[in-house]
Amino acid sequence: MKTINTINGIALHYARLPQHPYGTIGKQQDFKVENEFLEKLKTAFDEVFAHCPLGKPNVITSAGILVNKPGQHGLGKAFDLDAVFWDDFTLITNNFIHHKELYLGMESFLRKHFGIVLNHLYPNHADHWHFDTSVIVDYHESSQSETLYLQMVLRYIYGKSIIIDGVSGPQTRASTREVFERLNISTPITTKVNYLKFLDLTGKIAFKLSEDKVTPLQLLDNLETVVEGLPVTSKHAVSQALNSFLMHEDTSSWLNGITENHNLETIIDGVIG
Ligand SMILES: [Zn+2]
Repeated sequence: MKTINTINGIALHYARLPQHPYGTIGKQQDFKVENEFLEKLKTAFDEVFAHCPLGKPNVITSAGILVNKPGQHGLGKAFDLDAVFWDDFTLITNNFIHHKELYLGMESFLRKHFGIVLNHLYPNHADHWHFDTSVIVDYHESSQSETLYLQMVLRYIYGKSIIIDGVSGPQTRASTREVFERLNISTPITTKVNYLKFLDLTGKIAFKLSEDKVTPLQLLDNLETVVEGLPVTSKHAVSQALNSFLMHEDTSSWLNGITENHNLETIIDGVIG
């Protein structure tokens, strides 16, 4: 076991109540971590931030590594990542919807190193990524967390209109095949080498997309996703208000005049070479 307060020169902070509110930069703290797992973290963070367009961050806030509970945390072999702080930008995992491309770029590279990654849509993980190495890296259709990731990138990175429910079915399989073909990757996704290639290319494509200027159409998309997630009691009234706004003649002519600058195809061609 080692005690650390940085990884690869990135300061490790803690930002959870009662000390510091979630989402703030918190305060640098010592974390105990198992030696081999620390080496994994170093290799993984190295790769993530070598590809990330924002480069190496100053601070990562973690809700814990060695935590007094059963499972991998109890052994110092799991990491909970709350947020990442660069000079001019902060990624807070709970705000996934506002930086989907950057988030999914990071997750794609994390998944190359950690067999277990629990993300924003996995139950009880909206406000942090959990990752550990208790299982090997590969894709199983029956895995809820892996299928959630797959469906999230199919929808938010590759623009497929699919339902994100963590359950693989004909729609998920068909979209996966289409994307694999576009990326020139052999199928099936369940073969490890194919899956790793998919993670790598998706990470690069997501990071490239994260550099695009956000259009009002994308912001509207985010708003619609937020409304979809509201409790039924408030959802109806909010949807109706949003729809009346969107149906208004002036709004729709404004929206129709906006061109989507989504250059996904060009980005894919650039990445696959
Ligand atoms: Zn955890």
